[in-house]
Amino acid sequence: MKNRVLYTIDKRELDKLIGILVRDGFKVVGPTIRDGAITYEEIESTRQLPVGWTDEQEAGKYRLKRRDDDNLFGYVVGPHSLKKFLFPPKQRLFGIKKSGEDGFVFEARQPEPPRYAFLGVRACDLAAVDVQDRVFKQAMSDPYYAKARNEAIFIAVNCPEPGGTCFCASMGTGPRCSTGFDIALTELKTTFTAEVGSTRGQELIEALEHETTDANTSHLVDLMMDIASEHMGRSLDTNDLPSILLENLQHHHWSDVAKRCMSCANCTFACPTCFCSNIEDQTDLTGEHAERWRTWGSCFTLEFSYHTGGYSRSSPAARYRQWLTHKLASWHEQFGVSGCVGCGRCITWCPVGIDITKEATVIADDYRQSRSRQESASLEEVGS
Ligand code: SF4
Ligand code: SF4
Repeated sequence: MKNRVLYTIDKRELDKLIGILVRDGFKVVGPTIRDGAITYEEIESTRQLPVGWTDEQEAGKYRLKRRDDDNLFGYVVGPHSLKKFLFPPKQRLFGIKKSGEDGFVFEARQPEPPRYAFLGVRACDLAAVDVQDRVFKQAMSDPYYAKARNEAIFIAVNCPEPGGTCFCASMGTGPRCSTGFDIALTELKTTFTAEVGSTRGQELIEALEHETTDANTSHLVDLMMDIASEHMGRSLDTNDLPSILLENLQHHHWSDVAKRCMSCANCTFACPTCFCSNIEDQTDLTGEHAERWRTWGSCFTLEFSYHTGGYSRSSPAARYRQWLTHKLASWHEQFGVSGCVGCGRCITWCPVGIDITKEATVIADDYRQSRSRQESASLEEVGS
């Protein structure tokens, strides 16, 4: 296990930390209650955090509920991730203005991103940023994403109480933050322990009242995280999963899921790693000005698979299979990691409760059982 140095800070220091970040020109984004859910929004004080609230999550179900304490981070993830800040749902890519009789002026600028300080980010969302880095910084170059992401500060929070649809332990991304943070907090009764992950994080801790965490408290944090890993709401056996899924593209379960799937695209919009987009050109009626916009797209819509001459994924079964096999299988070939970080959002926010862990497991178990029957039969044949 990594030898972690932890610092202890009083909970009241968190407002000081927010103040320092605001003073230094950061837009602080943290969890807050909006429209009956906990979402990431701009905040200026810990009073805007969901103090004393938790969330209950199940397939197709999300409810806020009072806790019996005043914890600041006693819930898991809401419908939004950091995606909406780093890869905005709607963004102008460039504009063109008429100039003179026959000329045009090309305005190539995307807007300048704010300097974000993300507070209360969970391990799965840090992992999702790493996944999106591979798309927007490595496979392609998106200047807005790169600037917003490179300048952002991540004040993460470890998850001692996983939610009903969480399975980050199966995906190796949580519940403890292991990388990608400047500071990772663990909430205790009146204090936080803080692990530093960068020079910026160290400077921020130095600016707060702090002391080195004693061995007993460090051990307690380790224990809390071990217990959390064992109490995930969901799990997924990822052994050989990519090859199993790709070998079962004709499995009847794709059609079974499609009978329930409404192709509403909620899962893709809630997912912190989905990156598909549509490009739209807009002109005004004067003919003087045109703009190109990018909006979030979804492989669940029929239009998304339109090519000259028709649709390549005309049935809901084909679209669900495309999404799930991309997430859990072909993403590995394309980007070197799974496209799923185990946050559970697609399960919670699917209006009919379609569950990526259950649907993948039906196919994988079927295949594993039939392979094991074949192996037993071969052994019997050899032995006879
Ligand atoms: S596929 Fe579902 S569980 Fe996996 S990262 Fe996306 S929303 Fe989270
Ligand atoms: S799986 Fe659920 S959330 Fe996704 S498109 Fe189908 S019905 Fe909508």
